[in-house]
Amino acid sequence: MGDCIFCKIVKKEIPSTMVYEDENVIAFRDIAPQAPCHVLVVPRQHVCDVHEIATEDSDIMADLFGAVKAVVAKECLAERGYRLVINSGDDGGQAVPHLHVHVIGKRKLSGTMG
Ligand code: AMP
Repeated sequence: MGDCIFCKIVKKEIPSTMVYEDENVIAFRDIAPQAPCHVLVVPRQHVCDVHEIATEDSDIMADLFGAVKAVVAKECLAERGYRLVINSGDDGGQAVPHLHVHVIGKRKLSGTMG
């Protein structure tokens, strides 16, 4: 996906502050953090959104949540808690059409759902 900004981060064509990476997933700090910890967990493979994941691609979600677990441990978020967010499509507020999980923590978050 030539003009996808997260594909460019995956390929290290544009800079990011990397928190975690493995064979299938990378995690880097959000450029406009909503909390002291705001990390995006992104599959290396370009998938537009969570809706696009077919049953046979379910490994992607397992890989993503494995990486989320590693980020939570690395950022020491487990004790106080944290929030995971996946936006999907226009109504879901997704701005970057490359599947990602927001990991947000290190402050008390409000209970609003949008
Ligand atoms: P979403 O609205 O769920 O698609 O979230 C996209 C997120 O990507 C936003 O929180 C942006 O701040 C973040 N973002 C966009 N460009 C970059 C970038 N180059 N590096 C890090 N985060 C980015």
